[in-house]
Amino acid sequence: MIDLTGQKAIVTGGSRGIGRSVVLALAAAGADVAAVARNAEALDQLVSEGPAGHIHPVAVDLAAEGAAETTLAAARDKLGTVDILVNNAGVTRDGLLVRMSASDWDTVFDLNLKAAFLLTQKVVRIMLKAHKGAVVNVVSVVGQIGNAGQVNYTAAKAGLEAFTKSCARELASRQIRVNAVAPGYIDTEMTRAISDQARQAMLAQVPLGRAGTPEDVADVITFLVSDRARYVTGQVWRVDGGMVM
Ligand code: NAP
Repeated sequence: MIDLTGQKAIVTGGSRGIGRSVVLALAAAGADVAAVARNAEALDQLVSEGPAGHIHPVAVDLAAEGAAETTLAAARDKLGTVDILVNNAGVTRDGLLVRMSASDWDTVFDLNLKAAFLLTQKVVRIMLKAHKGAVVNVVSVVGQIGNAGQVNYTAAKAGLEAFTKSCARELASRQIRVNAVAPGYIDTEMTRAISDQARQAMLAQVPLGRAGTPEDVADVITFLVSDRARYVTGQVWRVDGGMVM
């Protein structure tokens, strides 16, 4: 059993899908968690589903100007400090390269990569003073192997993977670990728009023979932010049922 008692965590994209499961898993392990997303109602609902007093909603649009400052101020107000950061919020705007608009490119980069950079930069200042911390960035297997129709998303996730490794090298001497988790095909709202045909084709590529659940990903993230993973940094852990190996 992983014990995160007393640990203070920020999880972005906490209102649904993978992020919601991460918030619940960290809180169940004893952490106090600031759950960040735009949907205040969904965050309030989450508070009532977790252990009493452990989940704190922070309703912020992470793509907005000044969002990192607002998020950190709200999280510190509720938690006091930050030991764990999970950059999970993500968005897709799929389309073929020849038709991809600059605005769809920017939307995906602004949230998946720039918002993660800005929040990490601010949170790490606290971790540097404490000489400890754990950051996990949620990337994707398609950032490693590419995917037709997702030039923006795959490039942003590949960027976040490289960002993870550079941060890990910069911060290791202060005992701040930075890792990434790369989910494969996980059943969430993000993947529900996929056609049945594409879904079947994707599942045929998964040796474990099923779509992943948000909990499958949350369990690996819970391990990575815990002391059990104290000698792990700069790594990208695939959680994909063996899709890529
Ligand atoms: P999801 O169900 O669509 O959830 C996305 C989360 O991000 C929601 O909580 C959403 O909350 C939040 N979010 C979106 N825009 C935001 C914004 N501007 N500001 C703040 N929060 C925002 O997606 P998911 O499948 O759980 O994906 C979670 C992460 O895993 C993403 O980074 C995704 O790229 C990655 N991933 C997913 C899969 C998969 O198969 N599902 C595979 C590989 C990687 P609000 O709408 O309330 O703001």
